[in-house]
Amino acid sequence: MIQVCYYKGCGVIYGEKEPLSDKQITHGLCPKHLEIALKEIKAEMEKLMDMTGSIRVLIVEDSTLFRQLFKETLHDRFPSVEIYEAIDGEEALLQVETFRPNLIFMDIRLPGENGLELTKKIKARYPNITIIILTGYDLPEYREASSRCADYFFSKDSSTTENIFTLVESIFPNRV
Ligand SMILES: [Zn+2]
Repeated sequence: MIQVCYYKGCGVIYGEKEPLSDKQITHGLCPKHLEIALKEIKAEMEKLMDMTGSIRVLIVEDSTLFRQLFKETLHDRFPSVEIYEAIDGEEALLQVETFRPNLIFMDIRLPGENGLELTKKIKARYPNITIIILTGYDLPEYREASSRCADYFFSKDSSTTENIFTLVESIFPNRV
């Protein structure tokens, strides 16, 4: 029995199984294309999860009080949304890897790596994740830097949560 790879016209004979005499051919994936096919399946599944799964939101915020208040308000308005939390960059990256959020609320001033650096890092790996900078410091340089790496900028002082929620509804129409 001969094993032939069926991947996009590859046609490579990658293995033989006894008995050889009957010249029977089976189709499968050669080691190289098996690896590629598995990656493609994984990417497809992630795409499907992004389109159909529940919306996952990550709040990156070192202030416990603000984080919990924001989480509660968000939950009251969007009960179906799954909410995850992180207090610094290290925890945020771990949450991103584990839960693949669709949307991140990002504080700028964090212990260790700041929120703008963190945003760049996450966007480089997961360009589809929407990132909203949410900071207590409405400085021109913060707005400017945010416009280069994040999707939206909100100041904790001037922007009402209602504005933010309207935005969330417009990002995920009929899903939140
Ligand atoms: Zn192949």
